[in-house]
Amino acid sequence: MSRENTLLQRATAQLRTFLQANQLRCTKERLAILEAIYQTDKPFTIDGLMQMMQQKRFHVSMATLYAAADLFARANLLLRHPATGASALYQRIPDSGCSCYLICNSCEKVSQLEKKDALELIESIPTKRFTPYHRITYIYGLCMRCKAKQKRQLDKQKKH
Ligand SMILES: [Zn+2]
Repeated sequence: MSRENTLLQRATAQLRTFLQANQLRCTKERLAILEAIYQTDKPFTIDGLMQMMQQKRFHVSMATLYAAADLFARANLLLRHPATGASALYQRIPDSGCSCYLICNSCEKVSQLEKKDALELIESIPTKRFTPYHRITYIYGLCMRCKAKQKRQLDKQKKH
């Protein structure tokens, strides 16, 4: 079985438990949306999720997608990245207990920092009387592309 399938199976079981505990129904829509979300480990918008659903030829409304995203976030299955622009970015919960994201303030691109020793450091921070699910760290700044663009603009201004 592929890694993606194992993750989806685990997520489905987690969703069923959550729904049951909260006396909510396990609908076909919710399962299909979860399946779409677990196809990618990249950040996506609700518009992007709508496209994924359309590719699967599964008809849902935007309202259903927003409601499902909220529900999955509460169930600890989906991350809602802090909004930097007009549309919120979501991402499935990483399978490691700790992750660090770099957010560009200019183009709003979200990328993941893959630095084992830094992640281990975050993982080792004690949380007294608090059980962490996931440790998520955000670093805001400028991506390489935006920084180069900014430099070009500054150089242009200097010439005038
Ligand atoms: Zn950028």
